[in-house]
Amino acid sequence: MKKIELHIQILIGLVLGLSFAIVSIKLGWPVSFTINYIKPVGTLFLNSLKMVAIPLVFASLIIGITSIEDTTKLSRIGGKTFFIYTVTTIIAVLLGLGIANLVRPGEVISTQTRDALLRLYGVQVEQHAGSLKQITTSGPLQFLVDLVPENLFQALGSNLNLLQVVVVATMLGIALLKIPVRKSKPVILFFEGLNEAIIELVRFIMKLAPVGVFALVSSLLIEIAGGSNTHEVFEILYALLWYVATVIIGLAVMTLVIYPIIMRFFSNTSYFTFLKEMRPAQLIAFTTSSSSAALPVTMECVEKHLGVSEEISSFVLPLGATVNMDGTAVYQGVAIVFIAQALGIKLSIETQLMIIANVAISSIGVAGVPGGAMVTTTMILHAIGIPGIGLALILAPDRILDMCRTVTNITGDAVVAVVVASTEGELTSDTNKHITRKD
Ligand code: ASP
Repeated sequence: MKKIELHIQILIGLVLGLSFAIVSIKLGWPVSFTINYIKPVGTLFLNSLKMVAIPLVFASLIIGITSIEDTTKLSRIGGKTFFIYTVTTIIAVLLGLGIANLVRPGEVISTQTRDALLRLYGVQVEQHAGSLKQITTSGPLQFLVDLVPENLFQALGSNLNLLQVVVVATMLGIALLKIPVRKSKPVILFFEGLNEAIIELVRFIMKLAPVGVFALVSSLLIEIAGGSNTHEVFEILYALLWYVATVIIGLAVMTLVIYPIIMRFFSNTSYFTFLKEMRPAQLIAFTTSSSSAALPVTMECVEKHLGVSEEISSFVLPLGATVNMDGTAVYQGVAIVFIAQALGIKLSIETQLMIIANVAISSIGVAGVPGGAMVTTTMILHAIGIPGIGLALILAPDRILDMCRTVTNITGDAVVAVVVASTEGELTSDTNKHITRKD
């Protein structure tokens, strides 16, 4: 019997999870059953993916850097990667701002809904304001200071420190290139072994993906419906429909128009094939709302199915999962304009330029975890003089939008990996079917 492809299995898990949640909510099954027996399966799957993120980033970046060997090539690839990441992020935020200015979702929201949202979500906003206070009292160069951990093992101890891990691994990789081969070889071999073992582990974890996705989706929906008045949730979502639609249109344009254009110009890989091969990673990103959790799968898809060399993917992708967030940039562009419109604040051209700069810079600091964008969104509101309480207007549908923007985030990273590999003369493609590595 033909084996069902993994992404189809995951999709089945997603649909079954959705159906189970709907039936369970409709028939009033006890929420405690889901919390006690289904949610832990999802958490187990999510934790397994998160568990491999830090060692994978650390080992693969060191291998990526040391396997490039030639430092001129390394700086060329590094330069290209940073350049494309910056350009795509700027395009993404411009797109978000443009669409929000066109659709004007903040102008259709009634004053009653606006006040109700500010009341309902005001408390949650105060939590974000707490984190903001810490950031704003630490001075403008704090983000630079935060790049380097005072203790490597502490940095390796939390997924929120992924950016520091990237910095240390890059420095260590470069240092290994500088010392005599006799001494660097055993260290590199160690990381190569570690990397291979982690990849094997990921393959095993992915076998559990359909069940994990079922558990994650069903428990998320049942918890949302059980924790609050379902009627109220739907009313709020309805009132914010224009806003949600504007963000989704922005993400769709980025993913289905801008990326194909970039790929068309800089690579021979057909975008159709690309999307097909990326499906498992996109489904994991969608269900986990986390670029870091999806990273191992993204790497597997890009290397094994899109033919990008380990050398490039293990440098470009871990970096992308921590610093490149195009989906988040589109979302922030729309969200900020929406809040301003709903609060009756006019955004001048200068302020919108400030938003572009702020989103592009702060995207480096967004952690690839669910809701990672919240802190920087509060920061940007603060920087352009919009009351932070405005965040309350967008919190209700945030989890759904987080799922969607994370898909764009990881797709953007993979596009850059393919483009960098193509411009390095690594890929040949018979455009519609298989991509082969040029050896
Ligand atoms: N959840 C997103 C990610 O992991 C970050 C965010 O936009 O909140 O890519």
